[in-house]
Amino acid sequence: MNLLRHTVPAQLPEERIKNFDEVSLGFTPELALAESERCLNCKNAPCMTGCPVGVHIPEFISHVRTGDLDGAAEVLLRDNNLPAVCGRVCPQGNQCEKLCVRREKLGGSVAIGALERYVADHAKAKGITVSKKEKTEAKVAVVGTGPASLSCAADLAKAGVGVVMFEALHKPGGVLVYGIPEFRLPKSVVAEEIAKLTDMGVEIRTNIVVGKTVFLDELLAEYDAVFVGTGAGLPSFLHIKGENLSGVASANEFLTRVNLMKAYKKDAVTPVQRGRNVVVVGAGNVAMDAARTARRLGAEVTLVYRRSRAEMPARAEEIEHAEEEGIRFELLTNPVEILGENGSVTGMRCIRMELGAPDASGRRRPIPVEGSEFAISCDEVIVALGTTPNPIIKRSFPALETTPKGTIAADEEGRTSVARLYTGGDAMTGAATVILAMGAGKRSAHAMIEELKKAGKIR
Ligand SMILES: Cc1cc2nc3c(=O)[nH]c(=O)nc-3n(C[C@H](O)[C@H](O)[C@H](O)COP(=O)(O)OP(=O)(O)OC[C@H]3O[C@@H](n4cnc5c(N)ncnc54)[C@H](O)[C@@H]3O)c2cc1C
Repeated sequence: MNLLRHTVPAQLPEERIKNFDEVSLGFTPELALAESERCLNCKNAPCMTGCPVGVHIPEFISHVRTGDLDGAAEVLLRDNNLPAVCGRVCPQGNQCEKLCVRREKLGGSVAIGALERYVADHAKAKGITVSKKEKTEAKVAVVGTGPASLSCAADLAKAGVGVVMFEALHKPGGVLVYGIPEFRLPKSVVAEEIAKLTDMGVEIRTNIVVGKTVFLDELLAEYDAVFVGTGAGLPSFLHIKGENLSGVASANEFLTRVNLMKAYKKDAVTPVQRGRNVVVVGAGNVAMDAARTARRLGAEVTLVYRRSRAEMPARAEEIEHAEEEGIRFELLTNPVEILGENGSVTGMRCIRMELGAPDASGRRRPIPVEGSEFAISCDEVIVALGTTPNPIIKRSFPALETTPKGTIAADEEGRTSVARLYTGGDAMTGAATVILAMGAGKRSAHAMIEELKKAGKIR
C-alpha cells in the first residue's frame, strides 16, 4: 500500500490560464482505488466529526475499496445533498481531512474530498438518486437557492413536503453559480445537482426578490413554514481614498459578471473591464477566484494581503493553484490609497505590515511599519474583503430580529424571532462555507419536519 497521499491530476498551469475549464481533473479509477486503500477505516471515525453534514466517510470509502461504487454513492447521498459540489469546493483541509489520523505521520490525510468527487461523479453518470417519501399536504417556501436552501429543500422534499423556492436572480444556485468560477466548479455540475431537486418535485421560481416583489408575511400566510437562505451578498470595501475611481470593482460584481453573464466571452452583453495589471485585495477563496479569473482574462495579477501566508483563509489548493498560475503575492501589505488619473485607476499606494499580538479573531494583528509605503502600478483593483447579508429582508420585515452584524438572529436549528420562519447559511452566520450552509439548511429542514409532524401535516 502506498503510504503517501495520491495527487489529483490537474490541467497544467500554462494551459489552464488560457481557458475556463475545470483545473482539477479528478481521480482516475486506479488512483481512486489506490487512495481508498489508504483509509484505515478507524472505528471512531474522527474524520466524520469534522463534517458538518455527518457524511459516513469510512463507510463510503470502504465501498470504493471493494469496487462497489453504487454502494459508495448510496452512503454519500444519504447525508450529502450536493456531493459533486462539496467534493470540489469544501475546505476539507480544515474539516474532515484535518482530523484524519494519517495527516501528521502517515503520508498525509486520505484525500477524502477527491474521493467524494469521484463517487459523486459516478452517481451522476449512473443517475443514482435518493428515495423520497410519498407527497404530503405540507408545503414550505424556501427563499434563495444557494447551498443552504438547496440542502434544506432536498431534505424537505425527501420527507414528502411540497417545496417552492424563490430566487432573486435568473439562475438558481447562489454563490455556486455566480461566485465560484467555472474552472473550480463547472456550472453543469451545479445544474445537475439542481435537476435532482426539480426531479423530486421541487418548484423553483426565479427573478423574484423576496422583500420587493413578494413579502415574507405573504409567504407565511400561504405556506406552513418559510426558510430564508438569502446568503451574504453585500460586499465590504476598503474605505480609502480613490475607491470610487473607474477600474475599482468588488470581487462579487466582477465574478458575477464573468460567471453568470459570461462576460469573458467577446460578444458579452455586460463585459467586464479587462485590466492589464490587476491588484486583488484579500486572501480568501473569493480573492483567489477573482485573481485567477483576472489572470485568465489576460492580466498580470498581484494579490495584496495584510497578514502572512499562514493566515490566508483560502483553501490550500486554491493558494497553490494561484501561485502556479503566476499570481504574485504581496503579503504583509495593506492598501493606503488607490491612485488615479482622469478618473481611472493608475496604481495603489501600500504600506508594509508586521504581525503583533493576536486580536479578537485569534490571528496576529497586522501593524503598519512606519515609513514603508510604496506604490504598485495597476489599471484595475478588485476588492475581496468579505461580505455581509443584504438588508432587504430585514428592512421589508422588521419583526425579524437581526444581530448587530446584520445577520438574522436564530437558534441552532435556525428558528428566528418569527414563528414558522427559519434561516441558515451565510444569512445567519455571515460569509462562511458551502458545507456549513448545507448543514444549517439540513438542521432547519429537520426542525420543520418535526413541527409539521406535530401539526399532523406529515406522518
Ligand atoms: C467567490 C466565492 C468563492 C467561494 N469559494 C468557496 C469554497 O471554495 N468553498 C466553500 O466552502 N465556500 C466558498 N465560498 C463561500 C460559500 O459559497 C458560501 O458560504 C455559501 O454559498 C453560502 O450559502 P448560502 O446558501 O447561505 O448563500 P448563497 O450561496 O449566497 O445563496 C443565497 C441566494 O439567495 C438569493 N437571494 C438573496 N436575497 C434574496 C431575496 N431577497 N429574494 C430571493 N432570493 C434572494 C441570492 O441570489 C442567492 O442565490 C465562496 C464564496 C464566494 C463568493
